[in-house]
Amino acid sequence: MERKEVIVVGAGPAGMSAAVKLCDMGFTDILVIEKEASPGGVLRQCIHPGFGLTRFGKNLTGPEYKAVDEKRLYESGAELLFSSTVMDIRQSENGGIITSVHTPEGLKEYVSDAVILASGCRETGRGFLEIPGSRPAGIFTAGTAQAMMNLKNTKVGERIVIVGSGDIGLIMARRFTLEGSQVLCVVEKAEICGGLERNRKECLEDYNIPLLTSSAISCIKGKKRVNSVTVRDRNGEEQEFFCDTVVLSAGLVPEDGMAGKDIEGLFYCGNVLYVHDLADDVSVSGEEAAIDTAGYLISKMKGRSFDSKYSSFNVDAVREERKEYIAQRKKERLRESKSGKKHITCIMCPNGCRIDAESFTGGRCNKGENYARNEKLDPKRILTAVVRVKDSSDIISVRTDRPIPKSLMMESMKLIRGMEVSSGVKAGDTVAESFILEDVKLIATCGHGSK
Ligand SMILES: Cc1cc2nc3c(=O)[nH]c(=O)nc-3n(C[C@H](O)[C@H](O)[C@H](O)COP(=O)(O)OP(=O)(O)OC[C@H]3O[C@@H](n4cnc5c(N)ncnc54)[C@H](O)[C@@H]3O)c2cc1C
Repeated sequence: MERKEVIVVGAGPAGMSAAVKLCDMGFTDILVIEKEASPGGVLRQCIHPGFGLTRFGKNLTGPEYKAVDEKRLYESGAELLFSSTVMDIRQSENGGIITSVHTPEGLKEYVSDAVILASGCRETGRGFLEIPGSRPAGIFTAGTAQAMMNLKNTKVGERIVIVGSGDIGLIMARRFTLEGSQVLCVVEKAEICGGLERNRKECLEDYNIPLLTSSAISCIKGKKRVNSVTVRDRNGEEQEFFCDTVVLSAGLVPEDGMAGKDIEGLFYCGNVLYVHDLADDVSVSGEEAAIDTAGYLISKMKGRSFDSKYSSFNVDAVREERKEYIAQRKKERLRESKSGKKHITCIMCPNGCRIDAESFTGGRCNKGENYARNEKLDPKRILTAVVRVKDSSDIISVRTDRPIPKSLMMESMKLIRGMEVSSGVKAGDTVAESFILEDVKLIATCGHGSK
């Protein structure tokens, strides 16, 4: 059994920042284990902007945000084991933790003083949601649909109903629309939208996609492929939507089934601890777990009792606290939505402030006022998409280098669908000068061949 000081499970934003922080603090014997062939986790498929606003003060896409941490990870000195899945984490009888890993060379076991679990979460599927009806093809989770479109350039359907208004569902509603599919509605059982206000505004309101709150799917129909769904509201009124695709975006559960309970020296961070709204907070959570782990290792070495600074091992309590916070936030948002005041939701940062549509007040900072004034006169958005690479089935993700008028989004997508880039294009390269407007460039946000 190979010995390591610390093992980090997962190389998404949480695992990458935990490993880098440990190396920065002087730890030299760190192994990062990742089941995919490259680091990045969910960020690889999130080609939209909205990342890095609090951490870097920049509005980055997922691949751009990933690139920053990926570079730091490769330079950190941590050992990296890819295409390897952690199957089991248990306490060793002699102290320490045993981690069993399925690697391309077969099953391997490691013993370490500490493990940082940064394995993210997975989506809940139809079985969990208990939706009645037949079992045709054409039902996807939002994350799967996102990976198919953004990593494989595969369209999932033409007429789509989305179940659940979590952020992934909202972001995909916009993406489906931009790629020419029709999103008939988003069905949400709660009284208000589940995702961030910023995403509701940018992804649904911008494209006139109806959000049916206090409603649920009562039946899915179809033999080979989905044919229609019935949506029932809380008064029992039913509507049938003829669609070929249902996309589920109704919850995430922690990917922690491989870890035993109450293991001394096991720390949690990122989405496996609880679902974070922002990757920026996930990265901070990774650093906090690294600091707790360092404190634990030093206490153990000096024979002192360990006092956690960030409670990254007190998982149940942290999750409980988060539940209360979410419930409180929902209540506040419900109250605001019922106040009936006309407002513009600021999308300059994740706060999603409600700016009064007449007086332009109500923002937590002065960006809100400027945003609301521009939004009334000439609303603009950054456009992100994928472009085919010449003579191959590969794609790369792209963005406009500045916000473009909202009214030009669909026309821009038509141009993008007809474009091809040369192989070997690098992240940051200009893919098209004077794209859609004289002063707008289209920029690659990942390089050809990057995973
Ligand atoms: C659709 C979508 C849109 C989002 N939009 C935004 C946004 O606009 N702005 C923003 O700030 N944030 C956004 N986020 C949130 C952010 O991307 C996530 O919160 C973040 O990626 C979670 O990071 P993580 O490291 O905890 O988990 P992940 O990114 O899921 O990484 C976990 C890693 O662990 C690996 N792993 C899992 N199990 C094992 C195992 N047994 N063995 C080895 N490896 C394993 C996985 O392969 C993965 O690489 C979005 C998320 C999604 C899904």
